[in-house]
Amino acid sequence: MDKHYYVALDIGSSSVKAVVGEKFHEGVNIIGTGQTYTDGVIKGNISNFEAVRSAITDTVKKAKISSDVDLDEVFLKIPTTDSLLVFEENQLNFNGEPTEINGTHIEDLLENIREKINDPDHEVVNVFPIYFKVDNLHEVVDPKEMIATESLSIHAGAVLKNRSQLINIVKCVEDAGLEVLELFSDATNFEHILSESEIELGSVIIDVGHEITQYAYYERGSLRALGAVPYGGMAITSDLSEAFNTNYEQAERLKHQYGHAFYDHANDEDIIKIPQRDNSEDLEVTAKDLADIIELRLEETLTEVFKALEANKINRVSGGFVLTGGTVNLSGVKELVQDLVAEKVRIHIPNQMGARKPEFSSVISTISSAILFDELLDYVTIDNH
Ligand code: ATP
Ligand code: MG
Repeated sequence: MDKHYYVALDIGSSSVKAVVGEKFHEGVNIIGTGQTYTDGVIKGNISNFEAVRSAITDTVKKAKISSDVDLDEVFLKIPTTDSLLVFEENQLNFNGEPTEINGTHIEDLLENIREKINDPDHEVVNVFPIYFKVDNLHEVVDPKEMIATESLSIHAGAVLKNRSQLINIVKCVEDAGLEVLELFSDATNFEHILSESEIELGSVIIDVGHEITQYAYYERGSLRALGAVPYGGMAITSDLSEAFNTNYEQAERLKHQYGHAFYDHANDEDIIKIPQRDNSEDLEVTAKDLADIIELRLEETLTEVFKALEANKINRVSGGFVLTGGTVNLSGVKELVQDLVAEKVRIHIPNQMGARKPEFSSVISTISSAILFDELLDYVTIDNH
């Protein structure tokens, strides 16, 4: 593989997505993408190993064709379901020997943190520095090239994930013939979706996907809380199918074509005909009737997220709420959320050509995580010099 490129893989409940990208100024330039729909993932976990493995193979093949890059190494995104956030400290001692800090020192500290964390049911996904201290003085973001005489210490966070789930996601990717370079939890990936001021002031990022809704809270520069609720767009489609007595595929089509998340703004004039499960005459409804169902489920989903935040003692979100994930393709999501919270609300859609869809936020931000990690460790995984 051309070492210049970063490849990220997202195994979602609705589709597997891959992106081939490269560092471009402070962002990511996208060279190619691949996407394959699959039934093999339930709530972010592998339920049909063989189906997911083949979806991964197909996705990577598509990404290869679209990017013209021969790829066999990937950075793998891990969902925030069944995950924990922990904090740890570690220190390297130089005993009076002036030492120029390089990527290997940082790598050693991160590795020490990984080894210190012992949880019987969870495995470390990724460790991220919050700050370093050189000779126990002030906080430093990146100590590379600085001279330490006594010590280099780190205050770090780590995201853990249910061990069995993690092992099987990784195995599935490896069995598809790919090497997994690093894992990144979406909780840390989402940092790249937030602006500096959002991260500083305190912001919640919410990814409403197909079967899960992930969230992360950032404040004063770093990740403070993470989690997920077990429903997303699929629940909306199921509700529509139930409410209007139509099959799931019809309901999904209706949602995409006429779906609106905010009842007050939905169209109540144009008639939509819905084929019935029992072959009786088509039901006639308006987009407002659909919005009634959609709004209810989305509001319920978001309320679960708000409750989880409150349980984490997060009551004020001064930087606001950022929403992304496939379900925010629905019209009216911003208006609905703005109706529920007093803080600022925005929708995040990646701006790279070929991936301007909110369902690509997670996989693109995985590339940003990989670039940041590589820069911090002075390019241990990808040769970018
Ligand atoms: P998860 O993150 O839950 O594991 P995923 O990452 O595969 O799953 P996404 O790709 O983010 O999920 O989003 C898929 C969801 O977005 C589906 O429920 C789909 O119906 C919904 N969706 C996609 N496009 C639209 C659209 N135009 N209108 C309404 N919903 C949409
Ligand atoms: Mg997803």
